[in-house]
Amino acid sequence: MDTSSNSFPRRVTRQIHVGDVAVGGDAPISIQSMTTTKTSDVEGTLQQIYALAAAGCDIVRCTCNDTAAAEGLARIVPRSPVPIIADIHHQYRMALAALEAGVEGLRLNPGNIRKPEHIKAVASECKDRGIPIRIGVNGGSLDPELYEKYGGKVTPEAMVESAMIELAFFDEVGFDDVKISVKASSVPLMIEAYRQLSAATDHPLHLGVTEAGPLPGGMVKATAGIATLLAEGIGDTIRYSLTADPVEEAKAGRMLLEAMGLRERKNVDLIACPSCGRAEIDVIKVAEEALVAFGEREIPLQVAVMGCVVNGPGEARDADLGIAAGNKRGHLFIKGTNVAVIPEDEMVDALVEWADFIMEHGVDRALAKADLTAAKIAAEADRDALLIEQGDDANHSESKVDLIRKI
Ligand code: SF4
Repeated sequence: MDTSSNSFPRRVTRQIHVGDVAVGGDAPISIQSMTTTKTSDVEGTLQQIYALAAAGCDIVRCTCNDTAAAEGLARIVPRSPVPIIADIHHQYRMALAALEAGVEGLRLNPGNIRKPEHIKAVASECKDRGIPIRIGVNGGSLDPELYEKYGGKVTPEAMVESAMIELAFFDEVGFDDVKISVKASSVPLMIEAYRQLSAATDHPLHLGVTEAGPLPGGMVKATAGIATLLAEGIGDTIRYSLTADPVEEAKAGRMLLEAMGLRERKNVDLIACPSCGRAEIDVIKVAEEALVAFGEREIPLQVAVMGCVVNGPGEARDADLGIAAGNKRGHLFIKGTNVAVIPEDEMVDALVEWADFIMEHGVDRALAKADLTAAKIAAEADRDALLIEQGDDANHSESKVDLIRKI
């Protein structure tokens, strides 16, 4: 596999549009989330939508569970910075009301709206208006008939069949502006369901682990499911379903896509060594301070915080910029080259200053500005001093082994 691009080849899907956001085909993988406010609370919902958009969310879903919610949507949609999808469960009339409100997409749960005439009425209306539908199969609310058919179990086959039955109803009215999800709270189940679905259809797929739960477990589950499929080239749009502020969902989605090379980096990629007996600073504390200092600033550089000058610059030589701790001071390095010596308590400020300089002038100018010789001499002196002090066995493992052998 070619890892030079740090990306994964995607399966070919057809493309649909949710408002002005393309989903599927060669469109970038989009990030979705869902508001937690009452949709009838127009100002509260818009506030959340704006926060989600600022965190990188491309499409936002709001529940449309009653007439007050549909009326709220009519007021929210024209003021939203991103396309709005209405989430419909039991009442097909709410889908029609949401369309009247001007939403850019619908999500229907085939387990909850089962009458063919209702499904077809909604699909026909969407067809006339050019509005896409997500068929949102959910393991927890699978059509009871399919549940029985598959032996009283939610299986990948049952979930895929549910989606295919819904597609067939849409087909009867000539509607195919569709994306599909087959979410489950079990990671192995959702992975297999999406694999089978991807083999069965070229409609774009919306990935998610439903009801993943609170942090940190929810984040781990959602990442395990979504990342596994993305690495196989499956998935066109994603949602983290966390029991947390939805802004965390949008951030997690963005961070995952950035980490997998599937979305251009917007903020600092902070890497840090795990620390060990050789560390000259509290790496966790400094890394946390650096994370706060860079915050949401648009600095798409990789920045390293390394615990010692013995191995730090080498281990993080691909980072654009980094700091490695020496004897009561930090050694700032750019692309593995030591460029400055910084007092211990100024390390984080120095990282931010040099990151700003690189963003404005580039790496070459930053290297040219540095006193490379003085920085190199200081770094080597600290490195040698640490090696003399700690030897090659910074964790004192070998001396412990010697003691054990004498017992
Ligand atoms: S050797 Fe240095 S850089 Fe590597 S983990 Fe230990 S402290 Fe961090």
